[in-house]
Amino acid sequence: MTVVAQIGQILVDVPTMQTNDPYSYAIPAEWEHQLQAGMRVIVPFGRGHRMVDGVVVGVTDVTSFDGTLKPIEAVLDLSPVLNAELQQLADWLADETFAFRITCIQTMLPNLLKTKTEREIAPLDAITPAERATYFPDGTPRPFDPDKLDEATVAGLLKLQRAGKVTVLYHVKNQAAAKTTTGVAPLLPPDKLVEIQHAVAKRAPKQADLLAYLQGMTPSQPQPQAKVVKAAGVSSAVINTGAEKGWLEKSSLEVYRDPFHQPVKPTHPLTLNPDQAKAVAAITAAIDGDDTQNFLVEGVTGSGKTEVYLQSIAVALQQKRTALMLVPEIALTPQMVNRVKARFGEQVAVLHSGLSKGEQYDEWRRIDNGEATVVVGARSAVFAPVKNVGLIIMDEEHESSYKQDETPRYHARDVALWRGRYNHCPVVLGSATPSLETRARAAKGIYTRLVLPKRVNDRPLPTVHIVDMRAEMKSIGDSDFSTPLVAAIQARLDRKEQVVLMLNRRGYSSFVMCRDCGFVLKCPNCDISLTLHMDSHSMKCHYCGHEEAIPKVCPNCHSRKIRYYGTGTQKVETALQAQFPTARILRMDVDSTRRKGAHERILKQFGNHEADILLGTQMIAKGLDFPNVTLVGVLNADTALGLPDFRASERTFQLLTQVSGRAGRATKPGEVFIQTFNPDHYAIQLAQSQDYERFFVTEMAMRHQGSYPPYYFAVQVTASHEDEAVAAKAMYQIVAALKGDLSDQAIVLGPTPKAIARVKRKYYYQVVIKYKNEPDLKAGLEQIRQAAQIPARHGLAVTIDPEPMNFM
Ligand code: ADP
Ligand code: ZN
Ligand code: ZN
Repeated sequence: MTVVAQIGQILVDVPTMQTNDPYSYAIPAEWEHQLQAGMRVIVPFGRGHRMVDGVVVGVTDVTSFDGTLKPIEAVLDLSPVLNAELQQLADWLADETFAFRITCIQTMLPNLLKTKTEREIAPLDAITPAERATYFPDGTPRPFDPDKLDEATVAGLLKLQRAGKVTVLYHVKNQAAAKTTTGVAPLLPPDKLVEIQHAVAKRAPKQADLLAYLQGMTPSQPQPQAKVVKAAGVSSAVINTGAEKGWLEKSSLEVYRDPFHQPVKPTHPLTLNPDQAKAVAAITAAIDGDDTQNFLVEGVTGSGKTEVYLQSIAVALQQKRTALMLVPEIALTPQMVNRVKARFGEQVAVLHSGLSKGEQYDEWRRIDNGEATVVVGARSAVFAPVKNVGLIIMDEEHESSYKQDETPRYHARDVALWRGRYNHCPVVLGSATPSLETRARAAKGIYTRLVLPKRVNDRPLPTVHIVDMRAEMKSIGDSDFSTPLVAAIQARLDRKEQVVLMLNRRGYSSFVMCRDCGFVLKCPNCDISLTLHMDSHSMKCHYCGHEEAIPKVCPNCHSRKIRYYGTGTQKVETALQAQFPTARILRMDVDSTRRKGAHERILKQFGNHEADILLGTQMIAKGLDFPNVTLVGVLNADTALGLPDFRASERTFQLLTQVSGRAGRATKPGEVFIQTFNPDHYAIQLAQSQDYERFFVTEMAMRHQGSYPPYYFAVQVTASHEDEAVAAKAMYQIVAALKGDLSDQAIVLGPTPKAIARVKRKYYYQVVIKYKNEPDLKAGLEQIRQAAQIPARHGLAVTIDPEPMNFM
């Protein structure tokens, strides 16, 4: 019988039977006072004593113990992987997002700690010779496999860890294997290859094809075998033959390189202009003060927000505190990361999904042990284990990528605000086009508003022209480029200036628009664009379920040119090249940037003026700062307007303002052309004047009228199943149950099938509830989540999304 002095509260990870209540386990006496909250353990669970992962969330002393508790089987960490702040944050997050505590904890940990990894325990300098002799008889690090070590040894190691005498290293197997592929390069000179090609041409035509392809390759530059197979039109067997005959050489080829390991030239603080100085002073006062004060930095594009962030970070560092800076997507904002690194050098840690698990973990550890004091990263970096935080910055705070669209469905902004309160430090939300929610809170005084109304050095904002494509269509036909845009591009090519062209792919071909008058079919109940459903050949509103036939003539102008809308970047690139045969064009879209580091390469090429035109999807709208860009063209401003989403106008305004801001950032003035079928729409009109404040007022009125956020809260519940009837029935039951918890003030939209009703062989049904004050709603949703666990085993999945960003 094990002697027990303490009991551990353990959250167990059992996917089908989750609970937020921890289970009690006995802590073996040898481990007394060693186990701490935040450590991972293995415990026996259920009748079969199956071994499952768990996390310690509490430890209590006991004086008497009746012996019925199962003992903890093994400890996986010698020190907590989750500090006290993050433990509390996990509890809050679980409560806010209707997720389980264990899921939240896993979301916070680096990937490497989520997978089964090899652990090794290594002695540190502080260890005594006697301890070294006991625990490291070979003098070298030893594998740390708690299953195989006896309790006394683990207890001894736990003590050494607490005394700072040992450390645990984590290893992932086969990290290198993932990084290489087979490469192929010719071994013979081209004339020799030609000779052999002629010799084998009749007998072995495929070998001749391969030989022909090899002639065009540079001997010192191997290409991936997969590429050669495709380009030469031969099988890998033919390549093997080529290798046997000595025509080519196979080698191992590195596929990825980390884009952020290049050295960055250091920069020094710039002299601030008065608006910037005022902003930095206000943020500094808040860092100094003990009350949490939060800010909205509302600054037009090119107003120098980044310099405000950097100098504010410097203040936090001077006070021996740390700083956390969130950016929408690291891959899309390499310039921003470089600017932070250039200012703060080695103490910057960058967290992003492009790093390998090992690299991610290394950065995480540098943060955890205090080596890195400035953290830059995308959404999940908000969980970085920085301690004593002095400042949290969220750049482009309006970006929807800050909301996670899987469990836990958190918004990084809410997490940042929580951590600001915990650390008594300010949170700075920055944008040229703040989200309506944030701007409305600033209006209420919840955030202090700091305005940068002008571009740096009084550079003018670009002149924006709106091109009415309804009129243009009559002269240019189906071309994607209007006459004024073509002339403007030509002028830039003549002057050796650069052009950014954006093709908006959001909402691509999902809605029907009249090419003569720009009319978009809307729901009579919800005033939201109807979505085209090819399966049912109808137009549907997926807020309320309204359905009608696909129109053949425009209800507005009776034109027959009403059809769905959309074109691809590749097609546009071809047309653009035909229009401007000598122009050098770079294309940036999901296809051209699939490979790691491709984003940065394209941007670097463009920055070096190796191309005249950068053609891309909305991924080019963010953060680019190229002095030679004097023209921005938006080929289709309307697609996002047609999205069945109450934020469609807001997204359109934000995107147009952001992309316009890429023009004329240095000494040469900028010009923007926005091609649209809706030249009178307020989102387009106000993007032309780049008047965010007026857009805010106009859009708030629309939201008020439609009872949408920020006037109302919203929650979305979704049920999915392979059998459509099961999903629908579940959804109706959920709505019936929820209605009992709601007052007649709440607005229930649905149940209705989702816009894309069938994804990955599953049918989706949803309901959206808009509400102001519903005290019983949370408990009702909680019950639904609990009840959903049992049917989940039979393939029915229920999700609850507070403040959903994505209604598709
Ligand atoms: P934003 O993020 O608001 O769009 P940036 O921070 O990119 O603007 O600033 C635009 C440009 O102005 C950058 O090239 C930046 O280096 C420069 N800049 C910012 N602040 C100053 C300043 N106080 N003096 C001179 N140049 C500045
Ligand atoms: Zn509707
Ligand atoms: Zn029409």
